[in-house]
Amino acid sequence: MTVCCSARLLAARQSHDARLKGSRCVRVGLALVVAVALASCSRPQATGRKVIVLGFDGFDYALTRDLIAQGRLPNLARLAQTGSFAPLGSSIPPQSPVAWSTFITGTDAGQHAIFDFIHRDAKTMEPFLSTTKTEGGGRSISIGKYQFPLSGGKVELLRRGEAFWEPLEARGVATTIIRMPANFPPSGKATRELSGMGTPDLLGTYGTFAFFTSEPFAFGGRTLSGGVVVPVDPQSGVVRAAIEGPDDPFLVEPQKTHADFVCYIDAARRYVKLVAGSEERLLKIGEWSDWVPLELKMAALQKVHAEARFYLKQLDPYFELYASPLNLDPMNPALPISTPSKYATELAAATGRFYSQGMPEETKGLKTGVLTRDEFLAQARIAGEENIRQFGYVLDRFRDGLLFYYFGNADQVSHMLWRARDPQHPAYDAAKDAPYAHVIDDIYAGLDRVVGQAAATLGPSDLLVVMSDHGFTSWRRSFNLNSWLRDNGYLAVRNPYLREDPGNFGNVDWTKTRAYALGLNGLYINVKGREESGTVAPADRAALAREISAKLLGVVDPATHQAAIAKVFAREEVYHLRATEDLAPDLIVGYAKGTRGSDESALGGLPPEVLVNNTDQWSGDHCMDPEAVPGVLFASRALSKPAPNLQSLAAAIVAEFGVERFPRAVQ
Ligand SMILES: [Zn+2]
Repeated sequence: MTVCCSARLLAARQSHDARLKGSRCVRVGLALVVAVALASCSRPQATGRKVIVLGFDGFDYALTRDLIAQGRLPNLARLAQTGSFAPLGSSIPPQSPVAWSTFITGTDAGQHAIFDFIHRDAKTMEPFLSTTKTEGGGRSISIGKYQFPLSGGKVELLRRGEAFWEPLEARGVATTIIRMPANFPPSGKATRELSGMGTPDLLGTYGTFAFFTSEPFAFGGRTLSGGVVVPVDPQSGVVRAAIEGPDDPFLVEPQKTHADFVCYIDAARRYVKLVAGSEERLLKIGEWSDWVPLELKMAALQKVHAEARFYLKQLDPYFELYASPLNLDPMNPALPISTPSKYATELAAATGRFYSQGMPEETKGLKTGVLTRDEFLAQARIAGEENIRQFGYVLDRFRDGLLFYYFGNADQVSHMLWRARDPQHPAYDAAKDAPYAHVIDDIYAGLDRVVGQAAATLGPSDLLVVMSDHGFTSWRRSFNLNSWLRDNGYLAVRNPYLREDPGNFGNVDWTKTRAYALGLNGLYINVKGREESGTVAPADRAALAREISAKLLGVVDPATHQAAIAKVFAREEVYHLRATEDLAPDLIVGYAKGTRGSDESALGGLPPEVLVNNTDQWSGDHCMDPEAVPGVLFASRALSKPAPNLQSLAAAIVAEFGVERFPRAVQ
């Protein structure tokens, strides 16, 4: 999920929030940059050994095994032969923010406090992103239309517990942690860090693209999930436009910052000259630009730095230009994305600017139809190649201690392209899908070459570990959990005749509701004293949860004649709750392989039917029964401690450096 799943689900909400929060993000950055820089003063000592851990998000055990058998992954095959290869159990639930937090801390969600990609405030029932909180606040002084911030707010990582690199650093082992998910802002505890999944764009969202078009009826004037459509009017071959940034924090009256640009269309209508500030690019139809640095001017002679990639989709019959989300500029980041703060700049200077936002693959562009499948794949390839190029630089300089490096490409592309390898998928179309059946295999093969690169640097006492947070499978059927709760009398609606459900629990009668669902796997009892309009006495909570659990396990999908839900976990059975009782779902739903909670239900929607075909471009997933989607674990030699699952893996890694007790507060 990867918060992978989260970006699109919260996009609409975020684009609104972004307008409110974006300015704060810029402001809070400066204070944090200083704090992070101060925290990075440890003096590592040589340990005489290297441990390299490669994190391949979404690498599936069965697919990896099959591709090894086919000879497609020679480097992983060698690791399996000389070392070990086994399935790696995921977290409950197997969503990326939960899974990576479990790996990082060696604890379950009850302890690290990340239960789903979204949580809810039980007092307002408003959802919020589970891993990071951005708080504004701080005092300001107003002079005329200007407002000068006197003290910033803060960006806070909500994950609790010690990260596995902390005891290593305490022992003097240098750690380099690149793009670790659920680690934004960077912990500041490693020798070097670059944040990954969870890092926002300049708007404070997980990626909001802009699509400039002269087609007057493009997308019916709709607001797109994860992007904005900007109408333009080419006059005499010239298009003038702007990408909007966050509100200017220096102005009392909200006003957007923006990066202006001009496109000059050539007479033969084959390319444009794009001019943004002092930057100029020639862009052919069907071509992606490199990173274009942009400056968004603010009042009081301030400016904020960003970067964007452009893609010229067509010039006839309509002008169509895609602009990527405004990424934090690694040459001059407005928010902390690395430890030390200049490390991001060092990386960009060495191997080029890069996507600083987490999950850069433009899944939303494909979902909304702004990009075709080929265009999405071209963009995903650019993001993947940036990552691999940067890895080469980091690997070349890695001499001692621990290196963790994350690759998210396989997960994101698997979400969008899984259908192409599943003729049983309800939306499978042989003519359209069969030509793409090899795409995911090719990405695995590309990452196998990365394994070869890393293996070539190992000395006799060194160790290479390749791991994933969960596996993957087809997402064929969608389960509307809130609709099921409604149909079974646990969730009451205010107006049963409402034609179109507004989502976000907009039609829910809380005073008569006993249970509700939020996020991709969470189910909550509406408890008196915990929820604002709780109806169930705390003493009755567990019994009601058991009753619902038993009923859910009996649901048979009429399309498959199989159980739709494989497991339902009571939180007390699987988590060590540590002051997280108000946050944790009461039940965690493990959908049967092939079935996933719907996007609508995840955000409090109530579609008419409970089980429907998934016809979305997003056709692969993993937010199901954890046993249905095991990840992988390779090691170049036997680990000194067994690691059958994600939760035990960090302890096995730190044991290689003599750290025997991790996590320290283990039960
Ligand atoms: Zn994912």
